Parts: sequence; structure tokens; C-alpha cells
Amino acid sequence: RTVYVNGDYVAEQDAKVSVFDRGFLLADGVYEVSSVLDGKLIDFSGHMQRLKRSAGALELALPWDDEALLTIHRELIRRNALEEGMVYLQLTRGSAGDREFHYPGADTPPTLVLFTQAKALIAGRSGNDGIRIATQPDWRWARRDIKTVQLLYPAMAKMAAKAAGADDAWLVENGVVTEGASNNAWILTQDGVLVTRELSHAILPGITRAVVLELAEALSLRVEVRAFSVEEAQNARECFVTSASSFVTPVVAIDDIAVADGRPGQVTRQLRDAYIEESRRRAI
Ligand code: PLP
Repeated sequence: RTVYVNGDYVAEQDAKVSVFDRGFLLADGVYEVSSVLDGKLIDFSGHMQRLKRSAGALELALPWDDEALLTIHRELIRRNALEEGMVYLQLTRGSAGDREFHYPGADTPPTLVLFTQAKALIAGRSGNDGIRIATQPDWRWARRDIKTVQLLYPAMAKMAAKAAGADDAWLVENGVVTEGASNNAWILTQDGVLVTRELSHAILPGITRAVVLELAEALSLRVEVRAFSVEEAQNARECFVTSASSFVTPVVAIDDIAVADGRPGQVTRQLRDAYIEESRRRAI
């Protein structure tokens, strides 16, 4: 694979980042994941807008504009002949050479790394058959709206979910679901109302979530933006998650309780199809 590091396209085994990089030592960095379908980028401008927001929240310099970032994404897709999968982008604060808590001076260059990862997004098993969820306490920090690379707790929650026989984790705090460990959580109530949590510091403002909200409106679905409990989700007509790499993925069980008949719901399927169709149409 060819990867990108600070201006250079290099073979992955030749890529180098300093051991003093603050991303490595302190998780001082942000990231984005953009999906690729038919060799084209999905929701690219949304992801770059959020990257700027995350970097801004951490006073992290981003000396590349959207056009420069698009060029790098496209060049990596081309060099790796990527048809379907993801482009991962990571921006860290670099390092002035020592381990130090305080940010280094503004003249310290940040570290920008991008790489591609091939993955079957359309035909993948999860998206079509659905996934089983195990709930875990939400023990992450209080600024989950910033997409930082500090992902140890989501990794632990996914391992705990796997040990419980599930495919993924939903994180729960004060009796309500905040979001998935790496996606936003949704339910369709028995009354046919689509529910997903309101934006705040508690959750990541999903780019896929925003597009699915638009599609729901276009399909004239009733929508409520509010939190829901695990019990409400277990008793819902349908449940699903959204993220760049999973699009819209049905949830068929939560803590070993089947959602409805334990099969992907009809509205979920409709939204998945609509998201894929719209994404293909808008891809760049
Ligand atoms: N919430 C969390 C915690 C995530 O890590 C992600 C994606 O990685 C999402 C939500 C979904 O965001 P997006 O749709 O922009 O991929």
C-alpha cells in the first residue's frame, strides 16, 4: 500500500513518524474516515468540515485547504486502485522533540497521515443481515463531539461486546444510550417515529447521521431528535446505526433481546438503500 505522510507518498513500510509525536504519546490529534464507492469519495465536504471543527476545538493548525486534502485523498485512491473501502486521515500536533504536556509553539509542524483500507461496504454481511449489540457504560471523556484519536475506551467496549457474543457496543450513560462505540444509534418506535439523539458534547455529530436525517425528511418520516433508553430500543419496531463505514446498518438484538422479529427492519432497509443511492449520486 502507498500511504501519505507529511507531503510524501511512500510505501507503507517506508513511512516514518517521530516517536515523540504527540499523537503517539498523548493521543493529541484528530481524524476522519471517508468512505469510497466506485473509486469515489462519499460525503467528503462534510468530513472535511468536521475535521476543521475538531482541529479548531483543540487549537490544532490545519495548514491544508479542502482542495489540497481532496487531491491527497484522490491520489491515494488512484495509487492504491481503491474501488470500495475507506480513506483514513489523521492530523496530530507533531512534536518539539521532548515529552511535554503543554502544546509546542505554533511553528511546530503538525503530522498529517492518510492511508486507504479496502472493505466490502455494500455487500458486507453486517449491513445486510444486521448486527447484535451489547450495551456498555459510557466511560469516555466529556467532549465526544471532537473526533480525537483517543479510542482506547471504544476499543475496550467493543472487546467487551465481543466477549458477550455481540458484534458491537452501544454506550449508556444516565439510563440513556449516548451512541454506538463507533456510530450513531437510532430507533423506529412502535408508532413509526424515527428517533436519534440530539447533538451536544455527549456525541459525535455524525456526517452519515446528518444525511440520513435529510433522507428521512425527504421520505416524509416523522422524526424526533432526543435520547432513548436501552429498554425503549429493545421494544422498538426497528433499530439501526449509522457511520461512514457502515452506512445504515440494522441492529437485530440488544443485550440478547431481539428487536421485533430479530430481522432487519423495512424502514432501516429503505434508509440504507436511499443513503447508498444518494451517496453514489453525490460522490466526488
Ligand atoms: N459516533 C462515534 C463515536 C464514531 O466514532 C462515529 C464514526 O466513526 C460516528 C458516531 C459516526 O460518524 P460518521 O457518520 O461521520 O462516520
